[in-house]
This record gives sequence, C-alpha cells and structure tokens, in this order.
Amino acid sequence: MSRLPPPPVAYRGRIAPSPTGFLHLGHARTFWTAFERARGGTLILRNEDIDRDRCKTEFVSAFVEDLQWLGIRWQEGPGMEGPHAPYDQSRRRDHHLRVLESLHRRGLVFPCTCSRREIRESAAAPHEGREEPVYPGTCRGKSLPTADVHGHWRFRVTDGEVVSFEDEALGPQCFTAGKDFGDFPVWRKDNTPSYQLAVVADDAAMGITEVVRGADLLLSTARQILLYRALGLVPPRFYHCPLMTDAHGLRLAKRHDALSLRELRRRGHSPESVRALFAQTP
Ligand code: GLU
Repeated sequence: MSRLPPPPVAYRGRIAPSPTGFLHLGHARTFWTAFERARGGTLILRNEDIDRDRCKTEFVSAFVEDLQWLGIRWQEGPGMEGPHAPYDQSRRRDHHLRVLESLHRRGLVFPCTCSRREIRESAAAPHEGREEPVYPGTCRGKSLPTADVHGHWRFRVTDGEVVSFEDEALGPQCFTAGKDFGDFPVWRKDNTPSYQLAVVADDAAMGITEVVRGADLLLSTARQILLYRALGLVPPRFYHCPLMTDAHGLRLAKRHDALSLRELRRRGHSPESVRALFAQTP
C-alpha cells in the first residue's frame, strides 16, 4: 500500500516593519515583493516595536496607512483577532522570555557585561562588509543559574560552524560563525529581547514558511539560522531583496524623507506610479 504524500504546507509570509520612521521606497519594494509572494497564502503584518527608545506609535499608524495606500493587504496584523495575536512585538515578551529560557537550559547563552566600547577596543577591526566587530569572547565563560534576570545575554556561537543556505532570490549563501559574526546579543540590558531572538521566536510561532527581507539582513539571517538549529526548529525559506540606492548610489534609509511614501504621495504619485518605480530603480 503506497503512502499518501504529505499535504503541501500553505505559504505564510510576513512583513515586519519597525516604527522608527516613515516607510521609504526601499521598504515599499521589499514589502510589495513579500505581498506578491504571499498571494494565495497568508500574509501577516507584524509591528516590530521592541526598541523602546526608537519606536513611536505614530509610525505604526503611518505604516499601516502607507501599506494600505500602496495596495498591500494582510490577513493577520496589529489590532486584529488572529490565531497568533498579539501582532505587536512589544506585547509578546513572555513568549520571547520562554525562548531565552530554553536557550539557557541548553547552556547556549551567557551573561555579558561588556560595553560597546570595550568590544570595539578588544576586537579585531571589522573587515569590509561586516557591520560590527566580532565579539572577542570576554564573558564567554560566565554563567548564571537563571535566564530570568535583568541583563545582557549573548548566544555563544560555535567558532567555525558553517551556515549555508539557498536564498530564493540571491542563490547560495555561506557564512562562518566566529569569522563573519561572533557571539551575538539575544537579550538586552533594558530587559527586552534582541531583534535576532524576537524575530526567530515570532517567525517560528507564527508558522512563517518564507521570510522576505532586505539584503542588508543577510548576516542576521545567518545568526538566526543558528538560533533555529539551537532550538531544534526548521528555519523558513529566505528571499533577500536587493537594496535600493538613491541617485548617488547611497542605500536608502528612513532619513531619506524625499523618498518616503508620504512625500511621494504628497507630490502626486499614485500607488501605481510608485510601484512602477520599483522596476526602474536598481
Ligand atoms: N523589523 C526589521 C526592520 O525593520 C526587519 C525584520 C525582518 O524582516 O526580519 O529592519
């Protein structure tokens, strides 16, 4: 008797803006790609507001409005009932803490007291293309009996561990822990999760099958794959969108107000004409 093949897993994508400013053309292109890839499946909007100092609620209503104006629709998101609510990351802290505790039980995190300056001074200078120096391992040998304490925790990478994956847009990718990145933060001094921990915890909990994000996050993806491995979880597929640059070849950032969706709209652009720009801009 032949076995039935397993049913195909339905596509679940997400867009995960941080409310630290207005969305610009670069975000819009990445989010539009995420929306298109999720057609026929489910798209989740997740408000990544864990950084208390930089996030503002007015930017949440602004991105909801801008995304809707552009024509993006989602099935689950902030303010909506849903199987994975809440969709505001700042309200998911208990879940994030459970993930930290599970890493702690496996002996994979250590408390770190290094300041940014100490790390900068004792680490080898970052080489080109790397966004920060590799952590020099100063606190690696430290431990505390419980993860439920205020303070800064780092995930201990295995030096030399290779992280390779097939990116759906960019093809084969390969990074080496301890060389391309070092032990990275999973919990912050102000007792909030780091981006890496929160994003893995939430993508896994929300059953995301493919992550669409900007190519600036490739190294983060490599770190996140190590977290999936450590937690015994299967990582989603990844699709990294090439970054958009301005007329001077500079990467777009939220400070490029002229290219914010708000400003383009104010200057009379329609959603269609903004979407047409995605194709033209490298
Ligand atoms: N919230 C992150 C950001 O706006 C991106 C999250 C992601 O796609 O993983 O940069």
